[in-house]
Amino acid sequence: MTTIHIGLDDIDSINGGCTTHFAVQIAWEIKRKGVKFIDYLNLVRLNPSVPWKTRGNGAVAIRIEANNIQLAEVWEMIVSKLEEYAGEFKDAKNQPSVVLHEGEIPYEYAWFANKALHDIIPLDLALRLLNKHSETRYYNIRGKRGVIGALAAIGYTMVNTDYTYELIAYRAREYWGKPRLVDSESIRVMDELYGKDMILNYDYEANRPLITPRGPDPVLLGLRGEDPWVLIEAFNILKISEPVEYMAIFRTNQHTDAHLFEVNSICDIRPYMCVKVSGVVNKKPKRSVGGHVFFELCDGKCCIDVAVYEPTKTFRDIIEELEKGDVVEVMGCVRPPSSLHGLTINLEKIRIVKLAEIYEYFNPKCPLCGSTMESMGKGKGFRCRKCKYRDPHAKKIPVIKERYIKPGIYQPPRSVFKHVMKPIERFGKEKRSFPGILVKDFIVKPI
Ligand code: ATP
Repeated sequence: MTTIHIGLDDIDSINGGCTTHFAVQIAWEIKRKGVKFIDYLNLVRLNPSVPWKTRGNGAVAIRIEANNIQLAEVWEMIVSKLEEYAGEFKDAKNQPSVVLHEGEIPYEYAWFANKALHDIIPLDLALRLLNKHSETRYYNIRGKRGVIGALAAIGYTMVNTDYTYELIAYRAREYWGKPRLVDSESIRVMDELYGKDMILNYDYEANRPLITPRGPDPVLLGLRGEDPWVLIEAFNILKISEPVEYMAIFRTNQHTDAHLFEVNSICDIRPYMCVKVSGVVNKKPKRSVGGHVFFELCDGKCCIDVAVYEPTKTFRDIIEELEKGDVVEVMGCVRPPSSLHGLTINLEKIRIVKLAEIYEYFNPKCPLCGSTMESMGKGKGFRCRKCKYRDPHAKKIPVIKERYIKPGIYQPPRSVFKHVMKPIERFGKEKRSFPGILVKDFIVKPI
């Protein structure tokens, strides 16, 4: 028996189909062959700022234990199903790929996966690694770019890094593209009962469920949380009026902030990286046409723009309260410079470390009658209009400005959360080990 890791990516298309849906079908076939799984399906969200991603830059790993005959059968089955699926959901933009690795995962694959989470990987690098290891094979259609994500999914094992779970239910083919028949009220009931152990079920500000995607893809709904059993119980509360074709539990780096790479200096930041960086607010944030808010962050050596966009709504109000001199840690992915702006971090979260003392200057009060005095000209002192008192030495009085924000961590509303972003509510719930598969039947095919 050998441990086999199968990585899949770029199997989606804008006309339907998605990598997780393909992975579930493959995993179902593997299960039918009686092959042993050593993990739930792994859904690995890679760098969310990769310009050529379709949606959430997700790749999938399936990890099994198989003998040589089973391995040969599984590989043949995946290649033929990949051809079939890629033929059905043709999209010139996508390059469906599978990578299969036998045995221990080389250290370089783990390194590669970590890099794929926060940086842009050249295809050459992936191919060099793949060709170096004889225990790794790959197959791709139309182009090879999908091997980047497939290899990264293999390398990101989440055995000693944080993870969460997602239960995904898939629709029967004839329902794709039609409204999803999941009762909204039952989603709110589910959230009331299980919400504290789940992640982003409902956007109460917009009064909109977050568990059902929009669009023609095969996903009916996804329930995210800390414990697979809670997700199953929560699923059973939902009133669903359409058939569910497959259901699977994924272990995933969603909502772990795994994409945020801590850089030492703003000077180290390059386009499309996702970073966590500290600095000092160098210019008071300004709201521009379109409602976006921008400020400049510096660290003594380099400066970068930080953007907070209109859809983040009330998050912008917090950012606008920042002042020059405030010490902050910003988190987000980096937009390349354009003719309108410099290199820019799209802000996902901010930690306000220290507020600067900001002084406002007011005219002095008259010592005789208490009225507010007026200036007699620059450096010429102040006079009182009411009682005519004059003081050529009087100066403006400095008063510390009242601040309406406090040090702490702030995040945008739920509606703008990306898959990999960690909500503040998850702080302190991070996992550091994997206890093994506790839900034996983690893939089911009810119809
Ligand atoms: P879906 O979520 O529906 O599966 P997607 O958003 O995951 O779609 P893909 O169509 O899979 O997007 O496209 C992502 C592409 O980017 C893949 O070809 C993948 O190999 C590649 N990729 C992923 N991470 C990186 C990275 N860090 N650097 C370069 N390429 C990457």
